[in-house]
Amino acid sequence: MRLIFLGPPGAGKGTQAQRVSARLGIPHISTGDILREAVANQTPLGQKAKAYMDRGDLVPDELILGLVRERLEQEDAQQGWILDGFPRNLSQAKFLDELLAEIDQACDRAVNFTVPDEDIVQRLLARGRKDDKEETIRHRLTVYRQATAPLIEFYEQQSRLVSIDGSQEMNAVTEHLSQNLAA
Ligand code: AMP
Repeated sequence: MRLIFLGPPGAGKGTQAQRVSARLGIPHISTGDILREAVANQTPLGQKAKAYMDRGDLVPDELILGLVRERLEQEDAQQGWILDGFPRNLSQAKFLDELLAEIDQACDRAVNFTVPDEDIVQRLLARGRKDDKEETIRHRLTVYRQATAPLIEFYEQQSRLVSIDGSQEMNAVTEHLSQNLAA
């Protein structure tokens, strides 16, 4: 199974991705996690990405695309994967389509987790990550709407889109997601 998880920050993509990853035995690939690790280790990637992440802006594509290619080429990703937080804009989505065609793979579903804005701000403030200050959260939501939300239509046109109500309680979301993926 090859899955793309879409949705605003705080929609529960990471939690659901971990659960599906454990259930199906496929890697959970979070570009946000990879970047945070790079920042923590002060690698060249981390040093370049940090300021964008602190502001809640997207990191430039040139820092992300090669990293995703390398990750998808690894052995454990050959039988399936869950991409969480990638693609984040149309050019990343087009890059991914080309990359997958090149390595003879295709994504099965793009799962869009929907959550009202007011719930998102409350959830992220409760989570308390470094980039979870209210002003940064609101900026991430604006970036999401401008850059990432158009991907919903992109995957709908490819007939790959599944929508899940992410505002439900976590276990209910997992249940709906499993039903949808089995269908
Ligand atoms: P996330 O954990 O997915 O919310 O990502 C945290 C931050 O990492 C985002 O606010 C961006 O600054 C950066 N980031 C993660 N994934 C991407 C991506 N695919 N493209 C650009 N920036 C990203």
